[in-house]
Amino acid sequence: MSKKVLIIGAGGVGNVVVHKCAQVPEVFSEIILASRTLAKCDAIAANAARPVRTDQVDANDASQVTALIEKYRPDVVINVALPYQDLPIMDACLETGTDYLDTANYEPPEEATFEYKWQWAYHDRFKDEGIMALLGSGFDPGVTNVFCAYAQKHYYDEIHTVDIVDCNAGEHGRAFATNFNPEINIREVTQKGRYWENGQWVDVDPLSVRKDIDYPQIGRRASYLMYHEELESLVRHIKGLKRIRFWMTFSEQYLTHLRVLENVGMTRIDEVEFEGRKIVPLKFLKALLPDPGSLGPTYTGKTCIGVMFDGLKDGRRKQMMIYNSCDHAKCYQEVGAQAVPYTTGVPAMIGAKMMLEGTWRGAGVFNIEEFDPDPFMADLNQYGLPWEIVEGKSIEL
Ligand code: NDP
Repeated sequence: MSKKVLIIGAGGVGNVVVHKCAQVPEVFSEIILASRTLAKCDAIAANAARPVRTDQVDANDASQVTALIEKYRPDVVINVALPYQDLPIMDACLETGTDYLDTANYEPPEEATFEYKWQWAYHDRFKDEGIMALLGSGFDPGVTNVFCAYAQKHYYDEIHTVDIVDCNAGEHGRAFATNFNPEINIREVTQKGRYWENGQWVDVDPLSVRKDIDYPQIGRRASYLMYHEELESLVRHIKGLKRIRFWMTFSEQYLTHLRVLENVGMTRIDEVEFEGRKIVPLKFLKALLPDPGSLGPTYTGKTCIGVMFDGLKDGRRKQMMIYNSCDHAKCYQEVGAQAVPYTTGVPAMIGAKMMLEGTWRGAGVFNIEEFDPDPFMADLNQYGLPWEIVEGKSIEL
């Protein structure tokens, strides 16, 4: 099999995707990396284990992406630029008849809302074209969805409650930094929290619901209820579901900084007048904050991201958790990146591998839990994200 992959976005996640694709030459025989800044592509390519061709593209412009795809004729496009670019890149894939994969759903720049409706609306056009889009092939969304599909397939007749729990117990030594793109991260964290119960969405004030959760390999950590995009697709695909929630840990230090930044208006996403020109405060803040890619060398500690289930098997109550734990320093040693881009980039590579090998095929737009989880779960173990199951573990009420 000789397959070409075009990766768009030379950030923290793009760096990991390039390294991981380079480790699997039998599937990814040619790698092309393109981004807005060519120098960032060249820097990543210079450290890759195999030759990587690089190019420049503004992926906000579908015609530029179309020209890029026509130039290299890839078998799949992995979009690890920003969520704003999802739709123009999907338009270019439609135009050229090319398969598509991403790790985050579309967000309109002027509104901090993330929903699948814009991308699901492409389903019929992708189907008519006979091409495939795989949405949300990162860790969360991504691996967490696959954990749900795996639990549903092998362990449950009915899954009643799902709690996705995301803990970063690492230390990077900076006063305030985000683990992936600061603009996207802060838009997500400052939104209202939201969960689904008995067929209804319930909204709560941002970070207003807290629970101390006991994470395997880490211990108890303060965790906050947030809305996360995989909830929207999982309520469609998990049988018997009564409630689904998402929790993430934040340190007091992070929350204090965030509160101050919010209070003084630095997280605003609308334009404000500054010295005769318009600026978006959050974009300005992003320019000042550490590049998440620069955190790697000093990062220590672990992540633990998993899913806790409660439901029925053979008429009996069953509780369990599936999780992965990653060590920041080990990730840095392997690919020069801390665990957050690592846990996102590895599943992006595996999702593309599933598509190129023909293990996961379909015409249209799909969420990752719609496919057989078994080969993906096997690849997680093989390519750096081994997972564990803890029987009897559930979130305390
Ligand atoms: P970075 O900001 O580090 O990288 C994004 C890259 O995209 C940058 O190199 C940037 O180029 C490039 N880019 C931005 N705009 C354009 C454009 N118009 N055209 C071409 N390239 C562009 O972000 P991350 O690597 O941290 O995150 C990448 C993606 O991964 C995001 O969508 C994020 O939401 C997602 N993610 C998903 C997770 C999951 O588990 N599912 C977890 C973490 C992240 P330049 O530097 O030149 O501006």
